[in-house]
Amino acid sequence: MDKLLRGARELGITLKESHLALFQTYYEELVEWNRRFNLTAITDYEGVQVRHFLDSLSCLLVLPRAELQAGARVIDVGTGAGFPGLPLRIVCPGMRLTLLEATRKKVEFLEHITRKLGLRDVEIIWGRAEDLAHRPGYREAYDWALARALADMPTLVEYLLPFVRVRGAMLAQKGENAPAEVHSAEEAIRILGGEVRKLVPVGLHGLAETRYLVIVDKRASTPDKYPRRPGIPEKRPLGVPPIQLSRG
Ligand code: SAH
Repeated sequence: MDKLLRGARELGITLKESHLALFQTYYEELVEWNRRFNLTAITDYEGVQVRHFLDSLSCLLVLPRAELQAGARVIDVGTGAGFPGLPLRIVCPGMRLTLLEATRKKVEFLEHITRKLGLRDVEIIWGRAEDLAHRPGYREAYDWALARALADMPTLVEYLLPFVRVRGAMLAQKGENAPAEVHSAEEAIRILGGEVRKLVPVGLHGLAETRYLVIVDKRASTPDKYPRRPGIPEKRPLGVPPIQLSRG
């Protein structure tokens, strides 16, 4: 637990005993469920503390904590076993959180773990971003849309920006390649009504590689036709020229 506690302190977050108890239960349940279904490749104690919990909490370097606490609406798209959404919700209980996940088994875990941790009013949805982002009550309804390890930037912005209200923002957790990825998504971001605000490099306690937090502001409403049908944003990323196949 030491790495999590110290790492959080370095991020300016003071974890209380009650938080640590919740993270301990989260860890135990994750490992237990992972014996039956593949939820995550990281299951060693330190790996989970740093690469899952601490990495999720690092979003608080840029998210406005006071606004989250005051009830900001946040959606975590492709949350998997709950990252980054649930660690953020543990530390900021006031935020109104939706978790969206396409795989049924992961949704079952999310339902179990939120119940076990007593995290009330977390909305858990089994579905795809390309469908949910067209539904009233979800489209352009969020102050923040978040994602980690979901897709390359040009695809990711088509998944996230439709959920964000005008003057809201999206936050993508990215690896070392973030600057080039953001560059490749410039056209997609423009089409979807976004504008890059900044890239923030993050060093995590006990982790050598640099991570990035990428913030894209929503400036204008996203045209109704986005996101395109399920699978299309990934197959034909917006604003990226298709690879020319030569006839052999
Ligand atoms: N965010 C988590 C999980 C990353 S793996 C983490 O960082 O640990 C990506 C997850 O997104 C998978 O669980 C997959 O089922 C889900 N997913 C992929 N495409 C999706 C889509 N279009 N809509 C919703 N979920 C999606």
